[in-house]
Amino acid sequence: MKILVINSGSSSIKFQLWNMDNHTVLCTGLIERIGLDDGIFNYRPDEGETTRDVLPIPNHTTGIKLLLDRITDKNSGVIPSIEEISAVGHRIVHGGDKITKSELMTPEIIQIVKEASSLAPLHNPPNLAGIEAIEQLLPGIPNVGVFDTAFHSTMPPEAYIYPLDYKYYTEHGIRRFGFHGTSHNYVALQGAKMLGIAPDKFNCVTCHMGNGVSLTAVKNGKSVDTTLGFGTMCGVMMGTRAGDLDPAIILHLQDVLGMSTKEVNNLIYKESGLKGISGLSNDARDVDEAAQKGNERAILALKLFAHGARKYIAALASDLGGRLDAIIFTAGIGENSINLRKMCCQGLEVLGAYLDTEKNTVRGKQAVISTTDSPVKILVVPTNEELMIAMDTERIVKAL
Ligand code: ADP
Repeated sequence: MKILVINSGSSSIKFQLWNMDNHTVLCTGLIERIGLDDGIFNYRPDEGETTRDVLPIPNHTTGIKLLLDRITDKNSGVIPSIEEISAVGHRIVHGGDKITKSELMTPEIIQIVKEASSLAPLHNPPNLAGIEAIEQLLPGIPNVGVFDTAFHSTMPPEAYIYPLDYKYYTEHGIRRFGFHGTSHNYVALQGAKMLGIAPDKFNCVTCHMGNGVSLTAVKNGKSVDTTLGFGTMCGVMMGTRAGDLDPAIILHLQDVLGMSTKEVNNLIYKESGLKGISGLSNDARDVDEAAQKGNERAILALKLFAHGARKYIAALASDLGGRLDAIIFTAGIGENSINLRKMCCQGLEVLGAYLDTEKNTVRGKQAVISTTDSPVKILVVPTNEELMIAMDTERIVKAL
């Protein structure tokens, strides 16, 4: 079965075509600058040249038409006709509190996603534009939505309710949703497989550390708590986002320093985190390099990051009913930063997690990086949200 996976953003579409018979990628691509005259169509077939075409791409439907034409092209295509595509899996950011699993995108589910748009105004509308484009261009083909929030729908109320006046939950729906769920789910499944533990018996803390950062407590294969919340501005600090802040600081910035909501928004989302503390870059590689050369603000930025991560790993471990099988690192930083992984693990011996600094010198591939006799295993698992989307899509389509 061949499944097209689409991640449709406001001005970009990422895509991959998967052959689910052997879990291989037939082609990948990235369409950028949608809406502009100099749109960019990047395309890479599994065998053959990477191409980059600059052309007007006025909207998502034009972008998806281009990709369908290209993947079936006589020369650079990877399938003879679009009939070969059995289904399309879409990444969708927010399912609100009604969507708890991946879903066939029926009119009812599409309506729920539309209603959840106020919670993710930058993401849900373009995600839906991708589905509309497929409905126009490939009528009748099943569209499946895989939601960033769905994996966290198993959290208990004590993890998702904020201690505000209760009516803000019941009347206004203010609660923790959590994000990066597809990645947390995928690496937890892979981690269980690596350690030979049944997924529904596996307890771990998954650390998704990319530009965005979230950590999740996974108990018996299900999310029971996570560091991102109602929005994406809490928990561990990130590339440009501050993560946890005392809300009194926000009030002070506005009331005493006279900053507008827009200015505060810009500060906490775009000018904080690794970038704000280092004063150099939001890219962990740059900060790490400067720290190695002795730059004090870069060293401080890494220390803050690791301190926050350690604190949350230990806190989340306490949600697992007394048994932690593994701590899993994933995404750009988690998969690649030897130094930050080491810093994040310092002190976690208290949980029974002992890092093997030699084994930790690995980048971008699956590995056990704890000592042989460490009671809690520490793992690196490269995330693969696209494969997770393709697998869920296949499962749902096969059951139709
Ligand atoms: P996104 O959240 O945008 O998908 P990624 O998962 O690609 O992001 O992660 C991006 C982050 O990963 C950046 O901070 C980048 O610096 C970091 N990263 C990538 N490679 C390395 C590396 N070799 N060492 C340290 N950090 C790295």
